[in-house]
Amino acid sequence: MQEDSYRHKGLRQQLVQVLKDKGITDETVLNAIGAVPRHVFLDSSFVEIAYQDKAFPIGSGQTISQPYTVAMQSQLLCVSKGMKVLEIGTGSGYQACVLAQMGAKVFTIERQRNLYMKTKPFLAEFPYNIKTFLGDGNKGLPTYAPFDRVIITAGAPEVPQSLVDQLKPGGIMVIPLNHDDDATTQRMLRLTKQPDGTLTREEFGDCKFVPLLKAIGKD
Ligand code: SAH
Repeated sequence: MQEDSYRHKGLRQQLVQVLKDKGITDETVLNAIGAVPRHVFLDSSFVEIAYQDKAFPIGSGQTISQPYTVAMQSQLLCVSKGMKVLEIGTGSGYQACVLAQMGAKVFTIERQRNLYMKTKPFLAEFPYNIKTFLGDGNKGLPTYAPFDRVIITAGAPEVPQSLVDQLKPGGIMVIPLNHDDDATTQRMLRLTKQPDGTLTREEFGDCKFVPLLKAIGKD
């Protein structure tokens, strides 16, 4: 793993300030962003710009989400220590590490074999509680259910029913749901599962994610 220098730590604190200025208030989220070395998730050619508040390519046509998006989704999720969190779309593994740094037990699913093969051993180098799976995130992980929280980090055409079923009563799902008239942009939703199984829905503005696809990728 690349070293984490004082310079990187300094850049990270500047990023934390940028996120505060943009309205992130949850101290556990800000501390986690301040702790996880984002530059080690990017190709070394991006190291110098790793702490800008921008998304970057991670290969296989996928991206590491913008820090603001990671912080926003993490804040909406209301995570506390020891919670079981299911993430759909492992990608670089950065979001999974931020949640693990916040004290979550993270289960994360990636559908692209090459990303999974790269990210799984990489995440094992961190002292975090993260289990990585290859599969279709739409189906969740019935063996490990129920989950306290579910976070989807790709643009979803619909709310996957299996994931609702795998959420505990009182549990929260944060999901970027496609606009009806435009499958390339989403609205960020927080869905809370009531004791009777119904969902309450809160909306948090527009966002843009790579698509949540069906089935395991052959790519
Ligand atoms: N959370 C990631 C960003 C993910 S980008 C990070 O922190 O870097 C979205 C990811 O979702 C991509 O890696 C994409 O391959 C994956 N994905 C898309 N459809 C999926 C599905 N059905 N199941 C699991 N992963 C999926």
